[in-house]
Amino acid sequence: MQEHLTDQYGRRINTLRISLTDRCNFRCVYCMPPEGLPVINKKRFLTIDEIERFVRIVGKLGVSRFRLTGGEPLLRADVIEIVSALRLVTTVRELAMTTNASLLGKLARPLREAGLDRINVSLDSLDPSRFNEVTRTSQYEKVRDGIETAIEEGFPVKLNVVVLKGMRDSEIIEFVELASRRSLEVRFLEFMPLCGSGWQGDRVYPIADVRDVVRQRFELKELPRSFEPAQTFAIDGNGGRVGFIAPLSEPFCAACSRIRISAEGTLKPCLFSNYEVQLGHLLKARESDETLIEAIRHGVWNKPWGSEFANEPFREGEATVRRSIASPNIRSIGG
Ligand code: SAM
Ligand code: SF4
Repeated sequence: MQEHLTDQYGRRINTLRISLTDRCNFRCVYCMPPEGLPVINKKRFLTIDEIERFVRIVGKLGVSRFRLTGGEPLLRADVIEIVSALRLVTTVRELAMTTNASLLGKLARPLREAGLDRINVSLDSLDPSRFNEVTRTSQYEKVRDGIETAIEEGFPVKLNVVVLKGMRDSEIIEFVELASRRSLEVRFLEFMPLCGSGWQGDRVYPIADVRDVVRQRFELKELPRSFEPAQTFAIDGNGGRVGFIAPLSEPFCAACSRIRISAEGTLKPCLFSNYEVQLGHLLKARESDETLIEAIRHGVWNKPWGSEFANEPFREGEATVRRSIASPNIRSIGG
C-alpha cells in the first residue's frame, strides 16, 4: 500500500521544491541586495546522488511532483545530470523548474532531452529598461531568447511576474495579451516580505487590484484549483491563462501540499516560517532510509499551519517589515 506524508492538520504532501543552489546571476530588487547575499560553501550542497536518493525516499511516501529552483538552478554545473537522474526515478510524475531563463538559450534543448517536463520563467517586465532595472542586469534580450527557445523545444512555459507598485496598468494588460497570443499562462505574484533585504512595504501592489485591472479588459473564467498556489483563469478559447498568487493577502495554506529542501539539505516545510529540519548531515553520512524517513515525517508533521505574516504587511506596515527582516532563513520562494 502507498504510504503518505501528512502533517498534523491532515494536509497531504505531494510536492517537493528542490533548491539546487543559493547562487544567482541576477539581483532582483525584491529578492536580493545589489551585492548579493552571503553564500554557503558549495561543498555543503547535496550531490546528484544525495538529491536522487532523497527523491526516491520521499517518492515512497507519496511525493510525486518536483520543482527545481534556487537561487538560479541553471547555474548549477551538473543541472542536466540532475534532471536525467531524477527522470529515471519511477515515482517522479512531474519534474519542473523555475528559472530566470538567462541560460535557457543554450540549456533548453539538453533540459528537454534530459526529461524536464515544464518551466516557469520569471519575467517582471516587457519593457527592457524596466526589466533591467528590476533585475539589476542587462539581460532582457537573453531572457526573451531563452523563453523562445524553451517554447520551440516544446516546453509548456508559465511566466511569473512579481508586480511592484508603479507597474503601469498597460503593462499588466500587455502581459495578459501576450499570454493570450502565445497560449501561455502568465501568473502575477504579489510582492512578499521574503528575503528581508529586498523588502519595501510601500512597493506592494495588492493582487486584488491587479486582478481588477485585468478584469476591466478581459472576461475571466475561473479554472479549478489543482496543486498550484495560483488562482487561475482562462482568458480566451486558445489556451491563454492568467493566474494570481498572493500567499499572504490571499493565503492558500489550507490546501498547501508542498515542502522544500535547500541546496544543503535543510527541509523547510513552510516558506513563511523559520521552522526547518536539518537533513544534509544525515544524507552526507549515508544514514539509513528509516532514519531519514523518521526525520522527514517529523518535519512534515510539524509543518506550521500558515504564515505568521498572513494579511499583515498590508495592515501593519512597518511593524511587519521589521519582523519579516528578522526571518533570516527565508531566502527564496522557488515558485
Ligand atoms: N531564480 C529563479 C527565478 O527567478 O525564477 C528561481 C528562484 S526565484 C526565488 C523563484 C520565484 O520567486 C521567482 O518567480 C521570483 O520572481 C519569486 N520571488 C522571489 N522573491 C520574491 C518576493 N519577495 N516576492 C514575490 N515573489 C518573489
Ligand atoms: Fe535570482 Fe530568481 Fe532571486 Fe531574481 S528572483 S535574484 S533571478 S533567485
